[in-house]
Amino acid sequence: MTGLSTARLTIDLAALVANWRAMAALSSRAETSAVVKADAYGIGVGPAVKALADAGCRTFFVATHAEGAAVRGIAANAVIYVLDGLLPGTADAFARHDLRPVLGSPGEIAEWTAWRAAGGPTGSAVQIDTGMNRQGLSAEEAAALAADADALAALAPDLIMSHLACGDDPASPMTKRQLDTFVQLSALFPKVSRSLANSAGTMRGEAYQFDLTRPGIALYGARAANDHAALTPVATAEVPVLRVREASAGETVGYGATETLKRPSRLAVLGGGYADGYLRAAGSSDERPGASVFIRGKRAPLVGRVSMDLMVADVSDVPGVERGDAAQLFGPNVPVDDVADAAGTIGYELLTSLGKRYVRSYVGA
Ligand SMILES: *Cc1c(COP(=O)(O)O)cnc(C)c1O
Repeated sequence: MTGLSTARLTIDLAALVANWRAMAALSSRAETSAVVKADAYGIGVGPAVKALADAGCRTFFVATHAEGAAVRGIAANAVIYVLDGLLPGTADAFARHDLRPVLGSPGEIAEWTAWRAAGGPTGSAVQIDTGMNRQGLSAEEAAALAADADALAALAPDLIMSHLACGDDPASPMTKRQLDTFVQLSALFPKVSRSLANSAGTMRGEAYQFDLTRPGIALYGARAANDHAALTPVATAEVPVLRVREASAGETVGYGATETLKRPSRLAVLGGGYADGYLRAAGSSDERPGASVFIRGKRAPLVGRVSMDLMVADVSDVPGVERGDAAQLFGPNVPVDDVADAAGTIGYELLTSLGKRYVRSYVGA
């Protein structure tokens, strides 16, 4: 048997495409875009966009215009929206790569309109704030824009959108309130396409889907909403077992000696840590259990802290573990959300933190 010689990250592009199709099947009337900001949630924007475009995805959302330029290099004919909108003096970059800013303030709209009047040909979206107080026009600003027929004609947005704060929580009353506000404010812009739903919003049903849905996290196989299981895992992270050691009851493991062994234990020392984007908060202590890994067909709990390049798993109940074995940190046998839950965070943070040390491979293209 040849052992694992380095940390390995495997990205399943067939799973990504299957997840996109599953989200498309949830919304029969709306177009389904793909949100590929932050390097496609860490999995690699190049292969992700190529796979999704080949599968028929025509619209992509990114955070910055630099990310948009990267997507344009792969998807020549796609519609690309930039969620951060227009920063001062960047209109040229939008034109060069045919990117559409998501405009969310009067200042952006004024600058974009002036630039368009001077011959800039590309499209745009207008974002309306419906309760997050992050990006988007306030209700007053939206009404002022809608009331100014000349300004609106000069802007000619292609999309009116907003974003849900609590779509992941089916019990939140805020989601329906945001829907009502969006219906009311978007009606000020008749005949313009509308978009409200991220992954979780799409799962709330047809009323939330409008003309275009914007799933991100669901495509990458992590949990989007508390009442919906994650779709197919896309990223699998594995690290090698560096050595196996025996330790006695009463001994401690790792920095800070946070965990004392309660029984004679067999420990597997793993070649990965927080420098690989694994979460330090997913470690274990006497007070609180941590995440587990998957070795030789079984789950094995972490013991002690996660350090920069190392972590330790208790393999007392996993027969036959040896140096060079692969320990799965997350993937088909360890949901990325289990690790995130153990660390008190969300799958988004784990995926977008993936380190540079992994040897990456893309399968299923
Ligand atoms: C990130 C983002 C999305 C995608 O959200 P998910 O929860 O990952 O599906 C959609 N819309 C906007 C405005 C976003 O910022």
